[in-house]
Amino acid sequence: MSSIYDKYEPVIGLEIHAQMKTQTKAFCKCSTNFHNSPNSNVCPICLGMPGTLPVLNKELLDYAIRMGLATNCSIREKSIFARKNYFYPDLTKGYQITQYETPICYDGHIHIKLKDKSEKRIGITRIHMEEDAGKSIHDFSDSETLVDFNRCGVPLIEIVSEPDINSSEEAITYMQKIRQILVYLDICDGNMEEGSLRCDANVSVRLKGSKEFGNRTEIKNLNSFKNVSDAIETEIKRQIEATENGEKVVFATMTYNAKDKTTTATRSKEQAHDYRYFPEPDLVKVNADEAMINGIKSKLPEFPDDKLKRFVNAYSIPEYDAEILTSGKELSIYFENVIKELKNKNEKAYKQASNWVMNDVLKVLNDIKINIEKFNIPEINLAKLIDLLLEEKINKTVALELFEMMLTMETRDGQNPEHLLKEKGLEQVSDTGEIDNIIKKILTESPKEVERYKGGEKKLAGLFVGKIMRESKGKANPKIVNELLLKNLEAL
Ligand SMILES: [Zn+2]
Repeated sequence: MSSIYDKYEPVIGLEIHAQMKTQTKAFCKCSTNFHNSPNSNVCPICLGMPGTLPVLNKELLDYAIRMGLATNCSIREKSIFARKNYFYPDLTKGYQITQYETPICYDGHIHIKLKDKSEKRIGITRIHMEEDAGKSIHDFSDSETLVDFNRCGVPLIEIVSEPDINSSEEAITYMQKIRQILVYLDICDGNMEEGSLRCDANVSVRLKGSKEFGNRTEIKNLNSFKNVSDAIETEIKRQIEATENGEKVVFATMTYNAKDKTTTATRSKEQAHDYRYFPEPDLVKVNADEAMINGIKSKLPEFPDDKLKRFVNAYSIPEYDAEILTSGKELSIYFENVIKELKNKNEKAYKQASNWVMNDVLKVLNDIKINIEKFNIPEINLAKLIDLLLEEKINKTVALELFEMMLTMETRDGQNPEHLLKEKGLEQVSDTGEIDNIIKKILTESPKEVERYKGGEKKLAGLFVGKIMRESKGKANPKIVNELLLKNLEAL
């Protein structure tokens, strides 16, 4: 059934603000530490006192160029900063230092992978450097607002996309990709809860097939993937319904209310800010010459897409595995360290390593909500466990048992699976005589089942295997158990 919504195509562009991981602020030496107490990371420069002079943090320039190179942008050799003038209680200066007509990076693109596995190119209009404003806190009382200036002057880059995005799903995929690149480049921690990554979404709708853009609205300050998705969905629906009712969509700045899932206009075009941008007179021109750019290029880490391809080629693991393993930079390093520590180096071993990290390790991380940096099994011990399994010294049941034990052990030595194995006497039994004795015992104890098996109920073999494994305390080599069991049954 087609609905009114199917007639329209959403057109979306995102402006992502990413906080840079520098130690100090963009134009002064104040700390950027999020956890310091309110109004402790401040000085006359970031508070904009008369007579103070800002100086550009070179790291911010370095980081912005890294992001530009990673997203196929051109880097502008000479750019300037501008003042964006507006009044807000959490901006003591009355203006924000940003880049206006000459962003440091421009004209780039990245590729995102869509659900149907096809790739889509999303253009990057520009990346510019700027400083953050402070924070107003309304939660403490109904009648008063508090301000924290710690954020004032914290370095940001703003990554502006072309309106190449056509659904909320694509928007999320694009934003996740941007976050992944930022984290790989080690320039942003990607922590959305602490506000290190926020986004404004420009949304419009048009009839499918139409070339012209509809009027857009801009939803401000979305700070989680879920809010980005929900806000865009809500706004698309609102615009389609308005258009269908014969109303005109007019440009407005919107806020998204997650509680009742609505978007509301806070400013219309008539009330829109006139920022009166002008060149920041206190800062010199930014110079990014070829030597500097080449220097930064030479220090760039491997990008996530390249790492994914390398994993597939070097370790012969499926693309699906490689995608998960490279989704986070630290996870990809962990996986590769496990591979390095493995004694067995072949495709089977690599796939085992991939399975353990992707399934067992990630499950633990999700269950106890930690990231891989806090995971307590070092790569070498997981590699040892996998080697034991590959060398058939243990079976999967015992491997999982050992893995559980390792999780509870604090010291690296204490959780060494080779030691644990000996200590607990869990070595796999491959002694055919010993296994044969257990099989004979179980079959003698189950005369009725043996009769039924002989009568044609072949699936009872599984029941015998279960009993034999239990009798061996899970240590019997399952391959030998299967072989000998069939022999015994046939001989009966
Ligand atoms: Zn300062």
